[in-house]
Amino acid sequence: MTIRPLGLDPTHCLIGGVWRAPASGAGLPLHSPSDGAEICRIARGDHEDIDAAVRAAGSALTGPWGHATAAERGRVLFRIGQMVLEQVEELARLEAMDVGKPLTQARADVLALARYMEFYGGAADKLHGQTIPYLEGYTVYTLRQPHGVTGHIIPWNYPMQIIGRSVGAALAMGNACVLKPAEEACLTALAFGEIARRAGLPDGALNVVPGLGVEAGAALSGHGGVHHISFTGSVGVGKRIQQAAGQNVVPVTLELGGKSPQLVFADADIDAALPFLVNAGIQNAGQTCSASSRILVQRRVYDQVLNGMAARYAALRAGPALDDLDLGPLVSPRQKEIVEGFLAKGADLEIAAQGQIISDAPAGGAYVAPTLFADVPPDHILAREEIFGPVQVVIPFETEEEAIAIANGTDFGLVASVWTESGARQMRLARQLRAGQVFLNNYGAGGGVELPFGGTGLSGHGREKGFEALYGFSVLKTVAALHG
Ligand code: NAP
Ligand code: MG
Repeated sequence: MTIRPLGLDPTHCLIGGVWRAPASGAGLPLHSPSDGAEICRIARGDHEDIDAAVRAAGSALTGPWGHATAAERGRVLFRIGQMVLEQVEELARLEAMDVGKPLTQARADVLALARYMEFYGGAADKLHGQTIPYLEGYTVYTLRQPHGVTGHIIPWNYPMQIIGRSVGAALAMGNACVLKPAEEACLTALAFGEIARRAGLPDGALNVVPGLGVEAGAALSGHGGVHHISFTGSVGVGKRIQQAAGQNVVPVTLELGGKSPQLVFADADIDAALPFLVNAGIQNAGQTCSASSRILVQRRVYDQVLNGMAARYAALRAGPALDDLDLGPLVSPRQKEIVEGFLAKGADLEIAAQGQIISDAPAGGAYVAPTLFADVPPDHILAREEIFGPVQVVIPFETEEEAIAIANGTDFGLVASVWTESGARQMRLARQLRAGQVFLNNYGAGGGVELPFGGTGLSGHGREKGFEALYGFSVLKTVAALHG
Protein backbone atom coordinates (compact mmCIF):
# COMPACT_ATOMS: atom_id res chain seq x y z
CA MET A 1 0.00 0.00 0.00
CA THR A 2 1.24 3.49 -0.72
CA ILE A 3 -0.52 6.43 0.80
CA ARG A 4 -0.70 9.76 -0.99
CA PRO A 5 -1.79 12.49 1.43
CA LEU A 6 -4.08 14.81 -0.59
CA GLY A 7 -2.57 13.25 -3.72
CA LEU A 8 0.99 14.20 -2.74
CA ASP A 9 4.11 12.13 -3.14
CA PRO A 10 5.09 11.62 0.52
CA THR A 11 8.78 11.29 -0.39
CA HIS A 12 8.86 15.02 -1.13
CA CYS A 13 9.51 18.07 1.05
CA LEU A 14 7.76 21.44 0.71
CA ILE A 15 10.41 24.10 0.19
CA GLY A 16 9.67 27.57 -1.15
CA GLY A 17 6.18 26.56 -2.27
CA VAL A 18 7.43 23.60 -4.33
CA TRP A 19 7.25 19.90 -3.53
CA ARG A 20 10.59 18.27 -4.26
CA ALA A 21 12.66 15.25 -3.36
CA PRO A 22 15.35 15.80 -0.73
CA ALA A 23 18.72 16.76 -2.17
CA SER A 24 20.20 13.39 -1.20
CA GLY A 25 17.24 11.51 -2.74
CA ALA A 26 17.06 9.43 0.46
CA GLY A 27 13.87 8.11 2.01
CA LEU A 28 12.63 6.38 5.13
CA PRO A 29 9.96 3.70 5.57
CA LEU A 30 6.79 4.61 7.44
CA HIS A 31 5.03 1.84 9.36
CA SER A 32 1.49 1.46 10.60
CA PRO A 33 1.58 0.89 14.35
CA SER A 34 -1.73 -0.98 14.09
CA ASP A 35 -0.19 -3.94 12.25
CA GLY A 36 3.48 -3.14 11.60
CA ALA A 37 3.07 -2.98 7.80
CA GLU A 38 5.01 -0.43 5.76
CA ILE A 39 2.45 2.08 4.45
CA CYS A 40 4.71 4.34 2.39
CA ARG A 41 8.11 5.96 2.25
CA ILE A 42 8.82 9.52 3.31
CA ALA A 43 11.60 11.99 2.61
CA ARG A 44 14.75 11.77 4.67
CA GLY A 45 15.55 15.46 4.60
CA ASP A 46 18.94 16.54 5.93
CA HIS A 47 21.03 19.67 6.42
CA GLU A 48 20.93 20.57 2.71
CA ASP A 49 17.14 20.57 2.62
CA ILE A 50 16.91 22.41 5.93
CA ASP A 51 19.32 25.02 4.60
CA ALA A 52 17.20 25.43 1.47
CA ALA A 53 14.05 25.68 3.60
CA VAL A 54 15.56 28.31 5.90
CA ARG A 55 16.65 30.33 2.89
CA ALA A 56 13.18 29.99 1.33
CA ALA A 57 11.65 31.23 4.59
CA GLY A 58 14.07 34.16 4.63
CA SER A 59 13.02 35.06 1.08
CA ALA A 60 9.36 34.88 2.05
CA LEU A 61 10.00 37.55 4.66
CA THR A 62 11.23 39.98 2.03
CA GLY A 63 8.49 38.99 -0.44
CA PRO A 64 4.68 39.07 -0.40
CA TRP A 65 4.45 37.32 2.98
CA GLY A 66 6.69 39.88 4.65
CA HIS A 67 4.55 42.68 3.21
CA ALA A 68 1.17 41.14 4.05
CA THR A 69 -0.88 43.16 6.52
CA ALA A 70 -1.98 41.58 9.77
CA ALA A 71 -5.53 41.36 8.40
CA GLU A 72 -4.28 39.56 5.28
CA ARG A 73 -2.34 37.09 7.41
CA GLY A 74 -5.46 36.47 9.42
CA ARG A 75 -7.52 35.93 6.29
CA VAL A 76 -5.18 33.28 4.91
CA LEU A 77 -5.18 31.48 8.26
CA PHE A 78 -8.98 31.45 8.15
CA ARG A 79 -8.89 29.99 4.65
CA ILE A 80 -6.49 27.29 5.82
CA GLY A 81 -8.85 26.51 8.71
CA GLN A 82 -11.79 26.29 6.32
CA MET A 83 -9.92 23.92 4.02
CA VAL A 84 -8.87 21.77 6.99
CA LEU A 85 -12.57 21.44 7.83
CA GLU A 86 -13.24 20.26 4.28
CA GLN A 87 -10.69 17.47 4.78
CA VAL A 88 -11.68 16.16 8.22
CA GLU A 89 -12.12 12.54 7.16
CA GLU A 90 -9.00 12.41 4.96
CA LEU A 91 -6.80 13.99 7.65
CA ALA A 92 -8.28 11.82 10.41
CA ARG A 93 -7.65 8.63 8.41
CA LEU A 94 -4.09 9.66 7.62
CA GLU A 95 -3.38 10.35 11.28
CA ALA A 96 -5.08 7.17 12.44
CA MET A 97 -3.05 5.04 10.03
CA ASP A 98 0.22 6.83 10.72
CA VAL A 99 0.12 7.38 14.51
CA GLY A 100 -2.31 4.63 15.46
CA LYS A 101 -4.83 6.85 17.21
CA PRO A 102 -8.49 5.80 17.08
CA LEU A 103 -10.45 7.67 14.41
CA THR A 104 -12.60 9.60 16.89
CA GLN A 105 -9.48 10.96 18.59
CA ALA A 106 -7.87 11.73 15.24
CA ARG A 107 -10.99 13.65 14.17
CA ALA A 108 -10.80 15.71 17.36
CA ASP A 109 -7.22 16.65 16.41
CA VAL A 110 -8.33 17.81 12.96
CA LEU A 111 -11.04 19.98 14.50
CA ALA A 112 -8.50 21.41 16.94
CA LEU A 113 -6.19 22.23 14.02
CA ALA A 114 -8.99 24.11 12.31
CA ARG A 115 -9.81 25.93 15.57
CA TYR A 116 -6.19 27.03 15.94
CA MET A 117 -6.30 28.50 12.44
CA GLU A 118 -9.54 30.33 13.27
CA PHE A 119 -8.26 31.52 16.65
CA TYR A 120 -4.93 32.78 15.33
CA GLY A 121 -6.52 34.07 12.14
CA GLY A 122 -8.82 36.19 14.28
CA ALA A 123 -5.99 37.25 16.60
CA ALA A 124 -3.52 38.27 13.89
CA ASP A 125 -4.62 41.93 13.81
CA LYS A 126 -5.45 42.29 17.49
CA LEU A 127 -2.08 42.42 19.22
CA HIS A 128 -1.47 46.12 19.72
CA GLY A 129 1.59 47.99 20.86
CA GLN A 130 1.58 50.65 23.58
CA THR A 131 2.23 54.35 23.77
CA ILE A 132 4.44 55.20 26.72
CA PRO A 133 4.39 58.58 28.54
CA TYR A 134 7.98 59.85 28.56
CA LEU A 135 9.91 63.09 28.59
CA GLU A 136 8.57 66.42 27.32
CA GLY A 137 8.74 66.55 23.50
CA TYR A 138 8.82 62.77 23.00
CA THR A 139 6.37 60.25 21.65
CA VAL A 140 7.26 56.67 22.52
CA TYR A 141 5.48 53.57 21.30
CA THR A 142 6.09 49.85 20.94
CA LEU A 143 5.82 47.58 17.92
CA ARG A 144 5.27 43.81 17.94
CA GLN A 145 7.28 42.33 15.08
CA PRO A 146 8.00 38.79 13.93
CA HIS A 147 11.22 37.05 14.98
CA GLY A 148 11.85 36.20 11.32
CA VAL A 149 12.40 32.53 10.51
CA THR A 150 10.94 30.21 13.12
CA GLY A 151 11.87 26.53 13.46
CA HIS A 152 9.21 24.05 14.62
CA ILE A 153 10.36 20.61 15.72
CA ILE A 154 7.37 18.55 16.70
CA PRO A 155 6.71 15.05 18.07
CA TRP A 156 4.48 12.27 16.85
CA ASN A 157 1.79 12.25 19.49
CA TYR A 158 -0.44 15.17 18.36
CA PRO A 159 1.05 16.39 15.07
CA MET A 160 -1.99 18.39 13.98
CA GLN A 161 -2.62 20.05 17.34
CA ILE A 162 1.02 21.00 17.74
CA ILE A 163 1.25 22.34 14.18
CA GLY A 164 -1.88 24.36 14.91
CA ARG A 165 -0.61 25.89 18.09
CA SER A 166 2.95 26.66 17.02
CA VAL A 167 2.83 27.25 13.27
CA GLY A 168 -0.57 28.99 13.60
CA ALA A 169 0.66 31.51 16.16
CA ALA A 170 3.98 32.02 14.34
CA LEU A 171 2.25 32.76 11.01
CA ALA A 172 -0.26 35.07 12.69
CA MET A 173 2.65 37.24 13.84
CA GLY A 174 4.23 37.24 10.38
CA ASN A 175 7.07 34.77 10.88
CA ALA A 176 8.09 32.31 8.14
CA CYS A 177 8.21 28.73 9.37
CA VAL A 178 10.34 25.65 8.82
CA LEU A 179 8.53 22.60 10.17
CA LYS A 180 10.35 19.34 10.97
CA PRO A 181 7.72 16.73 11.84
CA ALA A 182 8.61 13.50 13.64
CA GLU A 183 9.77 10.75 11.34
CA GLU A 184 7.12 8.49 12.90
CA ALA A 185 4.25 10.84 12.04
CA CYS A 186 4.60 13.28 9.19
CA LEU A 187 1.68 12.53 6.85
CA THR A 188 -0.67 15.15 8.27
CA ALA A 189 2.20 17.65 8.38
CA LEU A 190 2.67 17.11 4.63
CA ALA A 191 -1.07 17.41 4.05
CA PHE A 192 -1.16 20.60 6.09
CA GLY A 193 1.64 22.07 3.99
CA GLU A 194 -0.38 21.35 0.87
CA ILE A 195 -3.57 22.80 2.34
CA ALA A 196 -1.71 25.99 3.30
CA ARG A 197 -0.30 26.21 -0.24
CA ARG A 198 -3.73 25.73 -1.81
CA ALA A 199 -5.20 28.30 0.58
CA GLY A 200 -2.85 30.91 -0.84
CA LEU A 201 -0.16 31.10 1.83
CA PRO A 202 2.72 32.74 -0.04
CA ASP A 203 5.64 30.53 -1.10
CA GLY A 204 8.21 29.95 1.62
CA ALA A 205 6.00 31.13 4.51
CA LEU A 206 5.67 27.47 5.51
CA ASN A 207 8.26 24.84 4.59
CA VAL A 208 7.94 21.20 5.64
CA VAL A 209 11.02 18.99 5.81
CA PRO A 210 10.55 15.47 7.21
CA GLY A 211 13.61 13.52 8.30
CA LEU A 212 15.47 12.14 11.26
CA GLY A 213 15.88 14.20 14.41
CA VAL A 214 19.63 13.78 14.45
CA GLU A 215 19.86 14.93 10.83
CA ALA A 216 17.10 17.35 9.83
CA GLY A 217 16.15 18.26 13.43
CA ALA A 218 19.70 18.99 14.53
CA ALA A 219 20.37 20.96 11.34
CA LEU A 220 17.32 23.13 12.01
CA SER A 221 18.02 23.77 15.70
CA GLY A 222 21.63 24.74 14.95
CA HIS A 223 20.99 26.79 11.81
CA GLY A 224 22.28 30.35 12.00
CA GLY A 225 19.40 31.64 9.86
CA VAL A 226 16.72 30.58 12.35
CA HIS A 227 15.53 33.23 14.83
CA HIS A 228 13.25 31.26 17.16
CA ILE A 229 12.75 27.57 17.86
CA SER A 230 9.66 25.88 19.17
CA PHE A 231 10.17 22.29 20.32
CA THR A 232 7.82 19.71 21.80
CA GLY A 233 9.19 16.31 22.77
CA SER A 234 11.47 14.59 25.25
CA VAL A 235 13.53 16.23 27.97
CA GLY A 236 16.80 14.88 26.56
CA VAL A 237 16.27 16.27 23.08
CA GLY A 238 14.87 19.51 24.54
CA LYS A 239 18.17 20.11 26.35
CA ARG A 240 20.08 19.60 23.10
CA ILE A 241 17.81 21.99 21.24
CA GLN A 242 18.31 24.64 23.90
CA GLN A 243 22.09 24.19 23.72
CA ALA A 244 22.10 24.37 19.92
CA ALA A 245 19.92 27.49 19.99
CA GLY A 246 22.22 28.94 22.66
CA GLN A 247 25.11 28.84 20.21
CA ASN A 248 23.18 31.27 18.03
CA VAL A 249 21.62 33.14 20.99
CA VAL A 250 18.17 32.28 19.72
CA PRO A 251 15.09 32.02 21.99
CA VAL A 252 13.40 28.64 22.42
CA THR A 253 10.02 27.46 23.60
CA LEU A 254 10.28 23.99 25.11
CA GLU A 255 7.35 21.73 25.95
CA LEU A 256 8.76 18.55 27.41
CA GLY A 257 5.98 16.55 28.98
CA GLY A 258 5.09 15.88 32.57
CA LYS A 259 3.83 13.69 35.36
CA SER A 260 0.65 15.59 35.94
CA PRO A 261 -1.40 14.84 39.06
CA GLN A 262 -5.11 14.98 39.83
CA LEU A 263 -5.89 15.53 43.53
CA VAL A 264 -9.16 14.07 44.73
CA PHE A 265 -10.38 15.28 48.13
CA ALA A 266 -13.00 13.54 50.23
CA ASP A 267 -15.55 16.32 49.65
CA ALA A 268 -15.34 15.99 45.85
CA ASP A 269 -18.13 14.88 43.52
CA ILE A 270 -16.53 11.48 42.83
CA ASP A 271 -18.98 10.43 40.12
CA ALA A 272 -18.22 13.60 38.20
CA ALA A 273 -14.49 13.06 38.66
CA LEU A 274 -14.22 9.42 37.57
CA PRO A 275 -14.45 9.84 33.79
CA PHE A 276 -11.89 12.67 33.88
CA LEU A 277 -9.54 10.71 36.13
CA VAL A 278 -9.39 7.80 33.67
CA ASN A 279 -9.70 9.61 30.32
CA ALA A 280 -6.86 11.96 31.17
CA GLY A 281 -4.60 8.92 31.49
CA ILE A 282 -5.66 6.77 28.56
CA GLN A 283 -6.48 9.37 25.89
CA ASN A 284 -4.15 8.80 22.90
CA ALA A 285 -3.03 5.63 24.75
CA GLY A 286 -1.38 7.83 27.39
CA GLN A 287 0.99 9.36 24.82
CA THR A 288 0.05 12.87 25.82
CA CYS A 289 2.41 15.43 27.34
CA SER A 290 -0.40 16.67 29.55
CA ALA A 291 -1.66 13.18 30.41
CA SER A 292 -2.61 12.78 34.06
CA SER A 293 -0.57 9.80 35.17
CA ARG A 294 -0.80 10.30 38.95
CA ILE A 295 -4.09 10.17 40.83
CA LEU A 296 -3.77 11.34 44.45
CA VAL A 297 -6.77 10.36 46.58
CA GLN A 298 -7.67 11.30 50.14
CA ARG A 299 -7.77 8.20 52.30
CA ARG A 300 -11.45 8.52 53.29
CA VAL A 301 -12.61 8.10 49.65
CA TYR A 302 -9.65 6.05 48.45
CA ASP A 303 -11.47 2.72 48.02
CA GLN A 304 -14.43 4.37 46.33
CA VAL A 305 -12.21 6.16 43.78
CA LEU A 306 -9.95 3.17 43.17
CA ASN A 307 -12.90 0.83 42.64
CA GLY A 308 -14.62 3.31 40.34
CA MET A 309 -11.46 3.71 38.25
CA ALA A 310 -10.84 -0.05 38.21
CA ALA A 311 -14.35 -0.69 36.87
CA ARG A 312 -13.71 1.75 34.06
CA TYR A 313 -10.34 0.21 33.27
CA ALA A 314 -11.86 -3.26 33.06
CA ALA A 315 -14.17 -2.00 30.28
CA LEU A 316 -11.39 -0.42 28.16
CA ARG A 317 -10.46 -2.04 24.84
CA ALA A 318 -7.42 -1.51 22.65
CA GLY A 319 -7.27 -2.40 18.94
CA PRO A 320 -6.42 -1.11 15.46
CA ALA A 321 -6.84 2.62 14.92
CA LEU A 322 -9.52 2.19 12.26
CA ASP A 323 -11.59 0.03 14.65
CA ASP A 324 -11.96 3.22 16.71
CA LEU A 325 -11.93 1.66 20.18
CA ASP A 326 -10.93 3.33 23.46
CA LEU A 327 -7.24 2.95 22.65
CA GLY A 328 -5.18 2.28 19.55
CA PRO A 329 -1.67 0.87 19.53
CA LEU A 330 1.28 2.90 20.77
CA VAL A 331 3.07 4.81 18.03
CA SER A 332 5.83 2.23 17.45
CA PRO A 333 7.35 -1.03 18.69
CA ARG A 334 10.04 1.13 20.32
CA GLN A 335 7.46 3.06 22.35
CA LYS A 336 5.81 -0.24 23.33
CA GLU A 337 9.19 -1.48 24.54
CA ILE A 338 9.70 1.67 26.63
CA VAL A 339 6.28 1.30 28.25
CA GLU A 340 6.73 -2.43 28.86
CA GLY A 341 10.05 -1.62 30.52
CA PHE A 342 8.17 0.62 32.97
CA LEU A 343 5.52 -2.05 33.57
CA ALA A 344 8.31 -4.48 34.46
CA LYS A 345 9.61 -1.94 36.98
CA GLY A 346 6.16 -2.04 38.57
CA ALA A 347 6.37 -5.78 39.26
CA ASP A 348 6.46 -5.01 43.01
CA LEU A 349 3.19 -3.07 42.82
CA GLU A 350 -0.45 -4.11 43.00
CA ILE A 351 -2.29 -3.95 39.67
CA ALA A 352 -5.80 -2.71 40.45
CA ALA A 353 -7.15 -3.34 36.95
CA GLN A 354 -6.22 -3.71 33.30
CA GLY A 355 -8.11 -3.19 30.06
CA GLN A 356 -8.13 -5.65 27.19
CA ILE A 357 -6.33 -5.86 23.87
CA ILE A 358 -8.98 -7.25 21.52
CA SER A 359 -8.30 -10.87 20.60
CA ASP A 360 -8.00 -10.30 16.84
CA ALA A 361 -5.59 -7.35 17.12
CA PRO A 362 -2.82 -7.90 14.52
CA ALA A 363 0.28 -9.53 15.99
CA GLY A 364 2.55 -6.87 14.44
CA GLY A 365 0.74 -4.02 16.24
CA ALA A 366 2.28 -2.07 19.16
CA TYR A 367 -0.49 -2.79 21.67
CA VAL A 368 -0.22 -2.37 25.43
CA ALA A 369 -3.10 -3.10 27.81
CA PRO A 370 -4.03 -0.03 29.88
CA THR A 371 -2.89 -0.64 33.44
CA LEU A 372 -3.91 0.90 36.77
CA PHE A 373 -1.58 0.51 39.77
CA ALA A 374 -2.87 0.90 43.34
CA ASP A 375 -1.18 2.14 46.54
CA VAL A 376 1.91 3.37 44.78
CA PRO A 377 4.56 5.03 46.99
CA PRO A 378 5.19 8.61 45.73
CA ASP A 379 8.91 7.94 45.33
CA HIS A 380 8.41 4.83 43.15
CA ILE A 381 9.83 5.23 39.64
CA LEU A 382 6.32 4.72 38.16
CA ALA A 383 5.15 7.70 40.22
CA ARG A 384 8.05 9.93 39.22
CA GLU A 385 8.98 9.37 35.58
CA GLU A 386 6.97 10.11 32.45
CA ILE A 387 5.90 6.73 31.00
CA PHE A 388 4.11 7.96 27.88
CA GLY A 389 1.78 4.98 27.75
CA PRO A 390 -1.64 3.99 29.18
CA VAL A 391 -0.46 3.62 32.75
CA GLN A 392 -1.75 5.43 35.84
CA VAL A 393 -0.73 5.17 39.48
CA VAL A 394 -3.07 5.82 42.41
CA ILE A 395 -1.49 7.30 45.53
CA PRO A 396 -3.30 7.75 48.86
CA PHE A 397 -2.86 10.86 51.05
CA GLU A 398 -4.25 12.06 54.39
CA THR A 399 -3.96 15.87 54.51
CA GLU A 400 -3.95 18.80 52.11
CA GLU A 401 -0.31 19.57 52.98
CA GLU A 402 0.71 16.01 52.17
CA ALA A 403 -1.19 16.11 48.88
CA ILE A 404 0.58 19.32 47.82
CA ALA A 405 3.98 17.89 48.76
CA ILE A 406 3.36 14.74 46.70
CA ALA A 407 1.89 16.67 43.77
CA ASN A 408 4.89 19.03 43.67
CA GLY A 409 7.36 16.25 44.36
CA THR A 410 8.47 15.44 40.80
CA ASP A 411 10.85 17.35 38.53
CA PHE A 412 7.95 18.21 36.18
CA GLY A 413 5.26 20.88 36.34
CA LEU A 414 2.87 20.92 33.40
CA VAL A 415 -0.76 20.40 34.45
CA ALA A 416 -2.60 19.63 37.70
CA SER A 417 -6.20 19.33 38.75
CA VAL A 418 -8.02 19.55 42.05
CA TRP A 419 -11.31 17.87 42.83
CA THR A 420 -12.99 19.47 45.84
CA GLU A 421 -16.19 21.33 46.66
CA SER A 422 -14.29 23.72 48.94
CA GLY A 423 -13.80 27.04 47.18
CA ALA A 424 -11.12 28.08 49.65
CA ARG A 425 -9.12 24.93 48.96
CA GLN A 426 -9.52 25.44 45.21
CA MET A 427 -8.00 28.92 45.50
CA ARG A 428 -5.18 27.78 47.81
CA LEU A 429 -4.15 24.87 45.63
CA ALA A 430 -4.44 26.76 42.36
CA ARG A 431 -1.68 29.00 43.73
CA GLN A 432 0.45 26.34 45.35
CA LEU A 433 0.56 23.61 42.73
CA ARG A 434 3.63 23.69 40.52
CA ALA A 435 2.10 23.59 37.04
CA GLY A 436 1.49 25.77 34.00
CA GLN A 437 -2.23 24.95 34.06
CA VAL A 438 -4.46 24.06 37.01
CA PHE A 439 -7.96 22.70 36.45
CA LEU A 440 -10.59 22.88 39.20
CA ASN A 441 -13.17 20.08 39.12
CA ASN A 442 -12.20 19.10 35.55
CA TYR A 443 -9.15 18.13 33.56
CA GLY A 444 -8.15 19.35 30.13
CA ALA A 445 -5.59 16.98 28.62
CA GLY A 446 -4.60 18.55 25.34
CA GLY A 447 -7.73 20.63 24.92
CA GLY A 448 -8.35 24.35 24.96
CA VAL A 449 -7.02 26.21 21.93
CA GLU A 450 -7.71 29.44 23.85
CA LEU A 451 -5.83 28.46 27.01
CA PRO A 452 -2.14 29.37 27.46
CA PHE A 453 -0.13 26.21 28.00
CA GLY A 454 3.41 25.31 29.02
CA GLY A 455 5.47 24.09 31.92
CA THR A 456 7.93 24.76 34.67
CA GLY A 457 10.93 22.65 35.70
CA LEU A 458 11.64 19.73 33.38
CA SER A 459 8.29 20.33 31.66
CA GLY A 460 9.98 23.22 29.85
CA HIS A 461 9.44 26.94 29.49
CA GLY A 462 7.59 29.44 27.36
CA ARG A 463 3.87 29.43 26.63
CA GLU A 464 2.02 28.29 23.55
CA LYS A 465 -1.72 28.28 22.82
CA GLY A 466 -4.13 31.10 23.53
CA PHE A 467 -3.40 34.76 22.92
CA GLU A 468 -0.31 34.49 25.11
CA ALA A 469 1.55 32.55 22.42
CA LEU A 470 1.55 35.64 20.20
CA TYR A 471 3.94 37.37 22.60
CA GLY A 472 6.37 34.44 22.38
CA PHE A 473 6.24 34.40 18.59
CA SER A 474 7.03 38.11 18.29
CA VAL A 475 9.63 40.64 19.41
CA LEU A 476 8.88 43.95 21.09
CA LYS A 477 10.53 47.04 19.67
CA THR A 478 10.46 50.42 21.43
CA VAL A 479 10.37 53.52 19.21
CA ALA A 480 11.22 56.88 20.82
CA ALA A 481 10.67 60.01 18.75
CA LEU A 482 11.97 63.42 19.90
CA HIS A 483 9.88 65.98 18.07
CA GLY A 484 9.96 68.90 20.47
P1 NAP B 1 11.99 13.09 20.75
O1 NAP B 1 13.14 12.28 20.34
O2 NAP B 1 12.19 14.20 21.73
O3 NAP B 1 11.39 13.69 19.37
C1 NAP B 1 10.70 14.90 19.22
C2 NAP B 1 11.14 15.59 17.93
O4 NAP B 1 12.52 15.95 18.03
C3 NAP B 1 11.04 14.70 16.71
O5 NAP B 1 10.68 15.47 15.58
C4 NAP B 1 12.44 14.18 16.58
O6 NAP B 1 12.74 13.71 15.30
C5 NAP B 1 13.25 15.40 16.94
N1 NAP B 1 14.62 15.14 17.36
C6 NAP B 1 15.15 13.99 17.88
N2 NAP B 1 16.46 14.15 18.13
C7 NAP B 1 16.79 15.41 17.77
C8 NAP B 1 17.99 16.17 17.79
N3 NAP B 1 19.14 15.66 18.25
N4 NAP B 1 17.95 17.45 17.36
C9 NAP B 1 16.81 17.99 16.91
N5 NAP B 1 15.64 17.32 16.85
C10 NAP B 1 15.62 16.05 17.28
O7 NAP B 1 10.83 12.19 21.27
P2 NAP B 1 10.56 10.65 20.84
O8 NAP B 1 11.82 9.89 20.65
O9 NAP B 1 9.63 10.71 19.72
O10 NAP B 1 9.85 10.11 22.15
C11 NAP B 1 10.65 9.74 23.26
C12 NAP B 1 9.99 10.16 24.55
O11 NAP B 1 9.80 11.58 24.53
C13 NAP B 1 8.62 9.61 24.82
O12 NAP B 1 8.66 8.34 25.38
C14 NAP B 1 8.04 10.64 25.74
O13 NAP B 1 8.43 10.41 27.06
C15 NAP B 1 8.65 11.93 25.26
N6 NAP B 1 7.76 12.68 24.38
C16 NAP B 1 7.15 13.77 24.87
C17 NAP B 1 6.28 14.48 24.07
C18 NAP B 1 5.57 15.67 24.55
O14 NAP B 1 4.53 16.02 24.01
N7 NAP B 1 6.09 16.42 25.50
C19 NAP B 1 6.03 14.07 22.77
C20 NAP B 1 6.69 12.95 22.27
C21 NAP B 1 7.56 12.29 23.10
P3 NAP B 1 12.55 12.15 14.91
O15 NAP B 1 11.52 11.56 15.80
O16 NAP B 1 12.12 12.21 13.51
O17 NAP B 1 13.89 11.51 15.09
MG1 MG C 1 3.85 6.35 11.99
